Amino acid sequence: MRMFQAVVMALSVALCFPSCKGKGGEAVEAVSEMVAMGTVVSITAYASSSGEAESAVSLAEMEIQRLEKLWSATDSESEISALNSSLGSVNVSSETAELLLFAKEMAGKTGGAFDPTVYPLVNAWGFLTYQYRIPPDDEIADILLRTGSEKILLAGNTVMLLSGAQLDLGGIAKGAAGDSVAKILRENGIGSAIINLGGNVHLVGARPDGHPWRIGIRDPYGRGILGLVAVQDCTVITSGDYERNFQGEDGRVYHHIIDPATGRPAENGLISVTIIAEEGRLADALSTGLFVLGKEKAADFWREYGGFETVLVTFENEILVSEGIADAFTADFEYAAAARVITKDPDYSPLLEDFIAAEAAG
Ligand code: AMP
Ligand code: MG
Repeated sequence: MRMFQAVVMALSVALCFPSCKGKGGEAVEAVSEMVAMGTVVSITAYASSSGEAESAVSLAEMEIQRLEKLWSATDSESEISALNSSLGSVNVSSETAELLLFAKEMAGKTGGAFDPTVYPLVNAWGFLTYQYRIPPDDEIADILLRTGSEKILLAGNTVMLLSGAQLDLGGIAKGAAGDSVAKILRENGIGSAIINLGGNVHLVGARPDGHPWRIGIRDPYGRGILGLVAVQDCTVITSGDYERNFQGEDGRVYHHIIDPATGRPAENGLISVTIIAEEGRLADALSTGLFVLGKEKAADFWREYGGFETVLVTFENEILVSEGIADAFTADFEYAAAARVITKDPDYSPLLEDFIAAEAAG
């Protein structure tokens, strides 16, 4: 494992410098790949000059490294680690305070399904150290006394964690970091860019040719994609049980998205949740939160709050696409017949092909 990490790190150093390509008068591309936030991050930005594209991408790289230093739960120097090891209150940066406030809000809206205090649970299952194990019931019961977003007290930039609570922002940090990077690219004159943080995609503008980006959604257990969404100026963020998991001594597979109600990997009928939204931090929190909520409650959440679109994949390999993205979603041939639309009416969930045909017929 360590050797693999070393190879990846070496590769990232080699790839970390932006490279540019220009094709006579067309937008110039700057590309960067690096390892950050526990994953491979790639940034491709387009501008009219290579200098503009390169300098924007360099600033974007520095921003990711800066935010990783604030939010990593495994870096002992981070603000999150400072909070996790402190018994009293800690002054944090305004970015961290703002993210914690938003995380608390998302925890409230999802009824605690998204919970930034899952750290001790994630750790007990071995997901932070790769020392995987199935914690005994009494250990989980003890830990559950220390979780819950109400244990995060915030007053301006001062944060205090009650009852030994500890934070893991793994379910939201990449989305928030992507927002920051997209903002920096925009502020530096970039009108078209794609940022990929380990499969979480942030889009600045449309493609350089003016067409929407076509973003593939991974087929959870296949090798390819289950479909494409044609979108721009937004984020496409997926959570899935296939992303990180291990096989226990009992032969069962345990994955990394924990249901804060039980302290165990969520098993509510979904295998992947994609959220399409303007803000990455919202999409990231909801990809994790709706995965925990399961199919029915996820659809109800979309009906109640809106402000995002979703593609859900169920245990039975059924695809459910929320109404607002149905037109922009193309299911892979294999899945086309199993794709349905989630509408505002809980009793009406037509086949995607019938829904599109009915819309075309007016
Ligand atoms: P994501 O890939 O965005 O779904 O994030 C998964 C990561 O978020 C896990 O690896 C944990 O670090 C953390 N996490 C696990 N369960 C939860 C949960 N219920 N709420 C918030 N974060 C979680
Ligand atoms: Mg997430």
